[in-house]
Amino acid sequence: MKRAGIGDVIREEYKCPCGSGQVVYGKENIPSSRSIEINCYCKQCNEKYDFGRGTATLKNNY
Ligand SMILES: [Zn+2]
Repeated sequence: MKRAGIGDVIREEYKCPCGSGQVVYGKENIPSSRSIEINCYCKQCNEKYDFGRGTATLKNNY
């Protein structure tokens, strides 16, 4: 198994809270970079949750 090195992109995929879609987490493994990308490919969960690494938090603006 290849270890993630500097400059590699860490990529994790997991199911969205409702289970019918997918959340993709991506981060460049660069110490000075904090660019994190999280895409939720489920419209309903995308509107309902804020996503973090491996987590989904209910938005409380409704
Ligand atoms: Zn969903």
